[in-house]
Amino acid sequence: MSNMDRRTYLKSVGGTGVALTLAGCTSLTGDGGNADTITPGTASGFPPFEFVNDSGDLVGFDIDLLTEVVDRTDYELGEWEDLEFGQLITSLDNGNIDVIAAAMTINDERDQTIDFSDPYYDANQAVLVREDADFRPGSRDDLGDRPVGAQTGTTGEDEVDALVEDGIIAGGQKSTYGNYVLAVQDLVNGNVDAVIVDTPVAETFVSNRAVVTAFTIETGEQYGFGVPEGGEELQTALNDGLAEVQDDGTFQDLTEEWFASGE
Ligand code: GLN
Repeated sequence: MSNMDRRTYLKSVGGTGVALTLAGCTSLTGDGGNADTITPGTASGFPPFEFVNDSGDLVGFDIDLLTEVVDRTDYELGEWEDLEFGQLITSLDNGNIDVIAAAMTINDERDQTIDFSDPYYDANQAVLVREDADFRPGSRDDLGDRPVGAQTGTTGEDEVDALVEDGIIAGGQKSTYGNYVLAVQDLVNGNVDAVIVDTPVAETFVSNRAVVTAFTIETGEQYGFGVPEGGEELQTALNDGLAEVQDDGTFQDLTEEWFASGE
């Protein structure tokens, strides 16, 4: 029923009968009722998935998507916690947050500590370079002896580590950052010659910063929402909500809203 219907209904029945009659109507009180409130965690600085806009608000595809998904469950979404990406899994383990929505790649290493929802977005890794520089690498080997950056704790950092392991760059040529906005800034400033970042986010930076994608590393990643290990009830609810959002066209609408124009 609509809010107006509810109010009318409340007036007509009044008193204690309301709580009994509407025990299952969880949004009635506006702040949870008898629903479980879950605290979502993200890491801004990853446009267009999650970033702080000019008005200082946390916005983005993940923010809207999780909101729509949770709307279709019996859970209530609490206040967002904006953390560093590298702290999200620990925060989930500690119970400081209940769900991660941060363009987080589902992989075996993380799967040992936390559980994931079904995948909702595909990505590879892009190698960004300065638009005004001559340096245009076409392969990993072309990055030889160049300073390369990525955000701490990401699959992009894994790719930089692989360059070090393969002897393409030295350990001291790897730079890590608290978020990718800082990494791209350092690239523009000339402190690193390349930044490795997820392809959809690279496209956003290409459209609004003086950087270009030199080449792509095909990693075949998929993003999922993170939930605590053993949190099957929440995991199932999120998967059901996600399927609904995909089936009813909402997912497509959000994709057009956040990706069509490049941000
Ligand atoms: N998808 C990448 C990862 O999971 C980057 C995520 C991010 O920086 N928010 O590591």
